[in-house]
Amino acid sequence: MTTTDSNHVLNFSAGPAILPVSVLEQARESILELDGTGIGILEHSHRGPAFTKVIDDARNACRTVGNIPDDFEILFLQGGASSMFALIPMNLLGEGRAADYIHTGTWTGKAIKDAGLIGDARTIWDGSTCEFRHLPEDAELRHSDDPVYTYYCSNNTIYGTMWPAPPASKGALVNDASSEMFSRPIDWERHDLVYAGAQKNLGPAGVALVIIRKDLLERSRRDLPSMFRFDRHAEQGSCLNTPPTFGIHVMGLVFNWILEQGGLAAMQEQNLSKAATLYESIDGSGGFYTGHARQDCRSTMNVTFTCPNPDLDSLFLAEAEDAGMRNLKGHRSIGGLRASIYNAFPAEGCRRLASFMDEFAARNG
Ligand code: PMP
Repeated sequence: MTTTDSNHVLNFSAGPAILPVSVLEQARESILELDGTGIGILEHSHRGPAFTKVIDDARNACRTVGNIPDDFEILFLQGGASSMFALIPMNLLGEGRAADYIHTGTWTGKAIKDAGLIGDARTIWDGSTCEFRHLPEDAELRHSDDPVYTYYCSNNTIYGTMWPAPPASKGALVNDASSEMFSRPIDWERHDLVYAGAQKNLGPAGVALVIIRKDLLERSRRDLPSMFRFDRHAEQGSCLNTPPTFGIHVMGLVFNWILEQGGLAAMQEQNLSKAATLYESIDGSGGFYTGHARQDCRSTMNVTFTCPNPDLDSLFLAEAEDAGMRNLKGHRSIGGLRASIYNAFPAEGCRRLASFMDEFAARNG
């Protein structure tokens, strides 16, 4: 019984998370042999033609699926999303300059802390005062006079809030899209750098996808060790050293899978409908379930809620587990329950959870 068997285990993990079955099957094949080469993906040199094709195809599929304009560079880096908390200010934040951060949860908190070690990182809105239940209006942002960039996180994995549209920005706009990358179309007019750790919507943990506007790249700092320099990675086609070859291969497969599903507009439609199934159960429970996020900024990826008390949360988890629904425990920092329903999560799985929620509320309300 695995996530590949939709009648049995449903994996609601926040990350690493469910991937499309067809992608897993192709990945399995390619471990034994990649494209008739007689050698598996794990064993191919990153300088050989087979892997060069893998990374070129992945980059091209990424550009196609994301509708990414030519004036953006696509990088596959290592160190997960968390490395970007440091690498972004290291590359972009020059001496004597400031960067503006919108603090909407744990992950922006970590980004702010790391950026503060490197330069002048200013928190221009602080959601901790509302337990990160909602996101700011543009008018609430206290921008600096001349920041190099404004940084936000478009989906807050732990709290279950998602920006319906990018915030007002000054300087470049940087987005940590780790937990929603390619769940919906991206407005490239508004963004200058969008990045995501792969382990939710895109592939195996460890790889980070970084999409950066070329003129920002050209202005990035050169006085850094090579592995920390975005421009060096760009010059070398993300093969400055041995890249995470398997992760990049799987990401390429995921990009193609999204294209087969109809691209990002189709993904968004499916994601909205999947999430609505669960929010209807929360809202229709007569107050049994309480959603963490305010309704106007609810996430389509991470649905966060609680039962009337922590004992019922525990009972919910135990019974859900028995019914084959795994990893519904909320993040340890906020408790409660969280259903992560990324791109690859089946609509049928959301319906199964919604029926379970309705039935559980009826029995325990
Ligand atoms: N940003 C966000 C929004 C995340 O959800 C996560 C992981 N949950 C991270 C950053 C950190 O990712 P990683 O563990 O790949 O460094």
